[in-house]
Amino acid sequence: MKEKLTIALVAHDHRKADMIDWVKRNSDYLSKHHLVCTGTTGGLIRKAFEELGKNAQIDCMASEPMGGDAEIAAMVIRNEIDLAIFLIDDLNPQPHEADIQMLLRQSPLHNTPIACNRISADLMISSPLWSDPDYKPIEQSYIRFDRK
Ligand code: PGA
Repeated sequence: MKEKLTIALVAHDHRKADMIDWVKRNSDYLSKHHLVCTGTTGGLIRKAFEELGKNAQIDCMASEPMGGDAEIAAMVIRNEIDLAIFLIDDLNPQPHEADIQMLLRQSPLHNTPIACNRISADLMISSPLWSDPDYKPIEQSYIRFDRK
């Protein structure tokens, strides 16, 4: 698999503190990759790297209600995202629910790993499969199940 990954980072407002803490704890790892974020999340991540005195390649998409999730979903469809960390607020309704569902649907459909909580994110970035030259992700299969 690739050495330098393109990693999408998105956090809803009530999950942004969690995202920034996760990013700070994993800043050495993340600084080696290309980060694609929604607007506000990306601004906070950029600030966190500045505070740490570390560099990172960070690109910001549109902000929350303006389609940042949809832009990242479009990148998933074009296979431009290797891994997505999407910290969702499961306790409060979001005005951009349709865009959230777009990203949550397109990622599995296009075989893009997506972590929606920190433990999944930790497990995903620490997987030895990223550096296994023999590992080839198996495409999704949609064979109809016959109940007969
Ligand atoms: P934001 O977007 O980073 O601009 O707040 C988050 C989201 O799209 O849900």
